[in-house]
This record gives sequence, structure tokens and C-alpha cells, in this order.
Amino acid sequence: MPNARTTPLDANAVRRRNLSSVLDLVHRRRGVTRADLTRALGLNRSTIGDLVGVLVAHGWVDERDDARRSGVGRPSPLVVTRSRWLVAAINPELDVIDIALVSLGGEIVERRRTPADRPSADEVVAVAARVVAELAAAHPDARVLAVGVAVPGLVRRGDGCVRLAPRLGWRDEPLASALSSALGMPVAVANDAHLGSRAELTFGAGQGAASVLYLNGGASGIGGGLVIGGRPVEGAAGYAGEIGHVSVDPHGIACACGAHGCLEALVRRGTLTAAVGLTQADDDELDAALQRAVAAEAADGPVRTVVREQLGWLAIALRSAVNLLNPERIVLGGYLAALWAAAGDDLRQSVLADALSVTATDVRIEVAALGAQRLLMGAAELAWDGIIADPTDVPLDSTVSTTAS
Ligand SMILES: [Zn+2]
Repeated sequence: MPNARTTPLDANAVRRRNLSSVLDLVHRRRGVTRADLTRALGLNRSTIGDLVGVLVAHGWVDERDDARRSGVGRPSPLVVTRSRWLVAAINPELDVIDIALVSLGGEIVERRRTPADRPSADEVVAVAARVVAELAAAHPDARVLAVGVAVPGLVRRGDGCVRLAPRLGWRDEPLASALSSALGMPVAVANDAHLGSRAELTFGAGQGAASVLYLNGGASGIGGGLVIGGRPVEGAAGYAGEIGHVSVDPHGIACACGAHGCLEALVRRGTLTAAVGLTQADDDELDAALQRAVAAEAADGPVRTVVREQLGWLAIALRSAVNLLNPERIVLGGYLAALWAAAGDDLRQSVLADALSVTATDVRIEVAALGAQRLLMGAAELAWDGIIADPTDVPLDSTVSTTAS
């Protein structure tokens, strides 16, 4: 709280933090009324008016008068984001380098997919430098400020070095510094599953909930993410939410991590695809095949039996999570969403009733909403972090520039 002894320096720091809080809320909610800002941030109306004015002057937000009347009095102006400032999101994969420009509010402005074949880090840097410059040139009124990268591998927080990305064949690649030199912008790099979960929690099925657990069944196992009190939880080293390695059967089969009976060792994509006779299938194909097979079978049919067993293991992990965290919402993505959909209401209720205690009666379980765009949206969130932290740090007279001098 400011007081009589607050120095000018302190006052500036408080103001920067308040500007950041306002912009962060407008970004995450994709538009918010002044009245909601006042309530959510606990600041008075004139302070909010002043902060919004600064953000308007810096080109971050606009105000519209078309907000719905809430209660008596004049309608509260709606504060919305402007797309003058953008970030670039990059996701190198086995067969494609996916790049997009993303505005505040997580809107993908333009996306370019460049085919690749197990690209090296150098190739990713070269393609990114070219594509980001081309995309930026197509939006001359906007300026790209920073870059976020989602990598299918282990990334060291701090310097964005990719320690290991087995599918790409990368080891100890200083990706953030190489990209930053090539693009002339700040670059942040993180694990793709973590970023996908962050996007889903912020803009997808987790949106608006204060406490959410997200579990994503992907090609390399079960990843997760966690929001408590409206903020993403990272843990000491950035690995919080790794529910794939929660033990559901201490005497179970070995997991790739070295432990036994982890959730992701028992609830497997391969088990589900094999049950419906598929060898290769994307999540939509698996989802459709499972639902077809379950609909065609009696209650003790082979596919229903597999679904019941897999859901049973999942329910054990959810029981631990629900008792520990008391989440308001659980979001299932990837093949876990397919498993959930195939189970149907009756099976879900009987399996969950056995597993979950009374504390779970209010928890809502939903399937993920963002689909394939979530990795780029998550990478963009990473890029926005440093900018939203100090929105007035961006010079007012910035011209469009995307290449290093
Ligand atoms: Zn494990």
C-alpha cells in the first residue's frame, strides 16, 4: 500500500505493476469492462481510468461504449485489445515448422506451416527468420515484439537451451540465443506440452475457472498443467502438473521414467488404438472409432472392457489430484478426451463414484477445446510474459522492424 513515505521510485513501480495487471486481465479475458477491472484488481475507478488511459495512449487497448449495462447508472466502457503489437509463435515438429503471428487475447493473426523433415535447430532458425519477416511485412501497421517457441523436448528455463528433444534428434541446442540473434528480438523457449496446457487453461476449457487441472494425452505420454487461484502453477523448476507420472499401481508395469505403475504407463494411447484395430490414427479418428465400437457392443464387449479398465486407472489418478487440490474443473485433452467420450455417462458415473470421494461432487470434468492451435497459442503466451510485465517499456514511436541490424 502506498503511504506518506512512499518514494517516487516506489510509486513508479506500483504504477508499472498496476498497468501490467490491467493489461494482463484484458488479454486473458479478451476484453473486460472498467467496472470489472475495478472489482477484479481492487483499485478505485479513477485509478483504473488513469491506467486504461495510459494503455490507450501506448496503443495497447481501445475503449468501446457498447458494454452491456450492469445494474444502474451509465454502462461501463469495455476495454479491448488492439492488434498493433504482435508476437511470433514457433513450433518445430517432425514434419513441419509451424509459425504464427499472435495478437493479445491469443488470436492467431496469420499462420504459416513450412514442411520439414526432422529439421535441425539451424534449419528452424533459418526458416523462422525468413517466415517471421514475411508475415510481419504482410502486417505493416503492426510490430512484432517477441518470440515464443514450443519444443517437443526438455528445455532449460532461464536460457531456453533445449537439453533433449528425442523426436527431433536435438541435444543441448541453444535455441533461444540462436533465434534471438537471427530475429533481433527477445526469444523464450519451453516444452510444448506445458505451453499447450497453459493455452487450454487460459483460453480453452479452463477459461474463467480459478482452479483447474489439465491432463493431455499426447504422442509422448500424459502431460498436464495446473492453475490455482487463477494463476498457472509451475513449481520450483517448471515441472508442476506432471500427473502422467503419478503412481496408480505401485506393482504395475515399468514407466519410461524408471518408476512403476505411473498413470501414463497404464493409460496408453496404444492400448486404445489396438482395441479398435487401428495402428495409426489422429485423435479425431481414435475418438470416432472408439465411440462406434462402444455403441456396437454389449456391456461386456472387448472394447468396453478396455475403456472401463483405462478409465479406472485414470480415476485413481484423478482421486489423488482431487483430494490434494480440490479443483473446480478438470480438463481432458488428446486421447484422454477420446477415452472420456467413449465411456459415456453411465460408465463415467459408476467408475468415478467408486474412485472419487464426496469432495469431488462439485468438480466438473470437460474435454479440451482448442485443438491443434493450442501449442502456438501457448508459445505466444510465453512471448507475451515479458512484454505484459512492463507495457510502457515498448517505445511509443516504434516502427515496424523484424530483423536484426
Ligand atoms: Zn513415470
